[in-house]
Amino acid sequence: MKPIYLDNNATTAVAPEVLEEMLPYLKELYGNPSSMHTFGGQNHRRIEEARAKVAALIGADPEEIIFTSCGTESDNTALMSAVESYPRKRHVITTRVEHPAVLNFARHLARKGYRVTYLPVDSLGRLDMEAFHEALDDDTAVVSVMYANNETGVIFPVAEIAEVLRERGILFHTDAVQAVGKVPIDVKELAVDMLSLSGHKLHAPKGIGALYVRRGTRFHPYIIGGHQERGRRAGTENVASIVGLGKACELAGEALEEEAGYLSRLRDRLERALLQSCPDARVNGDTTNRLPNTTNIGFEYVEGEAILLRLDEYGICASSGSACTSGSLQPSHVLRAMGVPFTAIHGSIRFSLSRYNTESEIDRVIEVMPTIIRELRLLSPYGKERLTQP
Ligand code: PLP
Repeated sequence: MKPIYLDNNATTAVAPEVLEEMLPYLKELYGNPSSMHTFGGQNHRRIEEARAKVAALIGADPEEIIFTSCGTESDNTALMSAVESYPRKRHVITTRVEHPAVLNFARHLARKGYRVTYLPVDSLGRLDMEAFHEALDDDTAVVSVMYANNETGVIFPVAEIAEVLRERGILFHTDAVQAVGKVPIDVKELAVDMLSLSGHKLHAPKGIGALYVRRGTRFHPYIIGGHQERGRRAGTENVASIVGLGKACELAGEALEEEAGYLSRLRDRLERALLQSCPDARVNGDTTNRLPNTTNIGFEYVEGEAILLRLDEYGICASSGSACTSGSLQPSHVLRAMGVPFTAIHGSIRFSLSRYNTESEIDRVIEVMPTIIRELRLLSPYGKERLTQP
């Protein structure tokens, strides 16, 4: 049975058009792009075509795009490059709700003696801009603030932050892994210096990412070796996946607005229905400014893991917290930072949609969820008490 896949912030299906473009590079066209012969050298041209497509999606110049192995590598590279480029500056600013790719790298820098400020968010997951302004000082090497949060979908005021930092001459990196391909981004308008994206969040395969580095930005490579990516990221290129990422970016760009409309309609219908049919449920995060495909709903007095297991029996895939932290029973650091009550954090479920979801799939979730929640609450003493109250 085909699953009802509502976990697209964890990863997405490879688009059939993407796979088709990739296959020749996994079969007959296996040449090394650095080779002198035509057989290999032609792959170099395919990489440059893909680079142009990735650049076009975010309004960049192709030379400003560096291919990496994933979003995590892009994030690590950006932060490492920033601190190495400004060795005298020892202060790094990020947020409490970043993905571990940034958060744990910031902790790594803290262990190395850097001062790290973790900016707070409010109860709707919105960044505390006063804290941001207060944190800036002459010692700040880099600020890294995500474009959109992977758990709640909440979008941060990246444009506003970028303007302030440009004026102060402080490097700005944004982790846009969840935003690229879902909302319009144009780095000609947006004064960011570096921006991370990841293929598997936008229907390209896993294991390919990119880092945008604005022309003129000081840059230190993170992976050192050969001359690939103009010396900015060594290692023989993952040609098939690079071609796939190019195609995925082209597809995303062609349908961005239409897709965002479709996804937010489906998402809103799901959200409205669940809030209506399941008592003691609440949306986590600012519903006025978030990704079109994401909703995070806290069902009080139930365990998120239990909900996921029951959904799984119906072939429905969702997530409690981010993919990287599920598997451990640690409550989500994002929801904790927002001050969501513990009773709701534990029962929080993220539904994240893609272009491949249908109305009837959403109907099925709307149909089964109230029963799942009611049955699970009857199993928990506190939930049962709530349910049997007059
Ligand atoms: N940043 C954010 C916001 C993410 O959601 C993820 C993946 O979930 C990453 C970074 C890491 O990307 P990758 O899985 O490509 O390393």
